[in-house]
Amino acid sequence: MATRFEIVLHGNNPVSLRAAGEEALDEIERLEAQLSLYQPGSEIAGLNRAAHERPVRVTPALLELLRRARALSDETHGAFDITVAPLVRCWGFMNGTGTLPDPSALEEARAKVGMCHIELDADNLTVRFKRPGVMLDLGAIGKGYAIDRAAGLLREAGMSSALLHGGTSTAYAIGRPPGGARWKIAITPPGNDATAQPLSVVELENESLSVSAVWGRSFRADEKTYGHIIDPRTGVPAENALLSAVVWPGATESDALSTALLTAPELLAEFVAHRPGIRCLVVGGTAAEPQVSVHGIEGAERF
Ligand code: ADP
Ligand code: MG
Repeated sequence: MATRFEIVLHGNNPVSLRAAGEEALDEIERLEAQLSLYQPGSEIAGLNRAAHERPVRVTPALLELLRRARALSDETHGAFDITVAPLVRCWGFMNGTGTLPDPSALEEARAKVGMCHIELDADNLTVRFKRPGVMLDLGAIGKGYAIDRAAGLLREAGMSSALLHGGTSTAYAIGRPPGGARWKIAITPPGNDATAQPLSVVELENESLSVSAVWGRSFRADEKTYGHIIDPRTGVPAENALLSAVVWPGATESDALSTALLTAPELLAEFVAHRPGIRCLVVGGTAAEPQVSVHGIEGAERF
């Protein structure tokens, strides 16, 4: 994940706060070592090396996460897809800042993408890739999952007021901060202007906010900005929206759904119909003429 995680904790006993915070951060580090495709010793790197040759045993927790990722891929009609890795590499985002791919390499990469290439065997706890070249990348769900797990540990340790975030793109709030109001998180508008007025200030209580955007990890070519979120269905970086945000009770889902929404803004209506209580936002159009679709997030419609 190569991301900075931070935790704010409120309570009366500094020793127990520190212990709970350290335990939560340790869990995040452990999950990164398990899930990062960039760490050669991780379970994911092990799958990427060997699962095209034979079924590879995984931990029950990883199998469960992969099943959730498959369900999210189905729900989003493939806009979120953890098999996107060959495309991420092809567009130069795997170990770099991005580059235009060679068309034939892009075609080759596209053929390796799709959850149809992944076989999950829950009885034997194994994962198999049905063809060579398939590669998993949990970059759009791992952060949210780690935050959910860390939040679970904080609750077990008795924490009732906390805010956690990873790389400022996924945050989770436990309870409320002292003073009674909810936790407040500003969403900055699309673009690189750190001093811009927030698009919205979202209030959170026992729920998570994830934001995805074309900016950040991106490069410019042919007068276009290409970001690191790629539409697995077309093989091209998301180009139908500039920014998306999702508020949901769990961070695993909010992380994946905000990535899906950036790729396919039309999913907003489906999320609203099928996930009661969801709050979400997509800024489509162009930087000069943004078009905002919003459900349950105040202020953004004025953007
Ligand atoms: P951020 O890391 O900025 O919070 P995301 O949560 O949207 O952004 O995750 C983006 C990462 O997920 C990319 O760097 C890439 O590794 C991976 N990814 C890119 N496109 C997709 C996609 N359509 N579905 C799933 N994962 C993706
Ligand atoms: Mg995400």
